[in-house]
Amino acid sequence: VIEIRHLHKAYGSLEVLKGVDISAPKGHVVSLIGSSGSGKSTLLRCCNLLEDSQQGEVLFKGEPVRWKGEGHNRRPADAGQVLRIRTNLSMVFQQFNLWSHMTILQNVMEAPLTVLRRDRAEVEAAARAYLDKVGIGDKCDAYPAQLSGGQQQRAAIARALCMEPEALLFDEPTSALDPELEQEVVKVIKDLASEGRTMMIVTHDMKLAADVSDHVVFLHQGLIEEQGAPDTLFGAPKSERLRGFLSATT
Ligand code: ATP
Ligand code: MG
Repeated sequence: VIEIRHLHKAYGSLEVLKGVDISAPKGHVVSLIGSSGSGKSTLLRCCNLLEDSQQGEVLFKGEPVRWKGEGHNRRPADAGQVLRIRTNLSMVFQQFNLWSHMTILQNVMEAPLTVLRRDRAEVEAAARAYLDKVGIGDKCDAYPAQLSGGQQQRAAIARALCMEPEALLFDEPTSALDPELEQEVVKVIKDLASEGRTMMIVTHDMKLAADVSDHVVFLHQGLIEEQGAPDTLFGAPKSERLRGFLSATT
């Protein structure tokens, strides 16, 4: 669904990504691991065009994203393409980012109504079904502040699902949560993986990465240091840096 080819990204003189190739084929779960500052969030943000890049390309369903302009004026050439990609890649953030003045149900319904202009009754039925699916169907009329962190993150996942996206992008979905709440969210992510959803997950939770991934990528200073199936990567890491990283995180 999503493919990144030889991506370079710099903020001024700071090179954050130095030529990264990564792809998430349909139905696959790809996890990104690596130490703080290695470029994981930047890579996800490049996927849904929240960031541009200096070199390389992003393809969505085989279709390359086109850009125009130079320097600060560089931007995607086709607004329709941006909308198509953003609505098909739903992102879930570490800090949930729910709208505090809307109920949980309204939060989940907002984008399908305003961005996709779908029928209200259909969207409401879908929103209630997704909230049930993530186990908070009884919280429809509550406001985000009235929910626990784990419930808020599950609401954010329901909101992402309600866009009926081709793929889900997660940026450290469990890092803001206490360990016991983390498990509620991990369970939802595992359910999504077993349904065959296409997902790209940045996580510090090696157990989650090992359990749900088809492919794990270890980023180090903007380059892929090692990648492979979870059994191999975690069971028999080859690179010294990956071994060091794994022993520091467990
Ligand atoms: P973490 O595990 O801490 O979330 P990360 O792997 O997600 O780290 P990124 O957020 O991708 O790392 O950041 C990579 C580097 O890019 C860091 O050195 C960061 O300071 C820098 N960076 C990120 N966003 C910007 C920005 N908007 N402007 C300038 N520098 C940035
Ligand atoms: Mg990050």
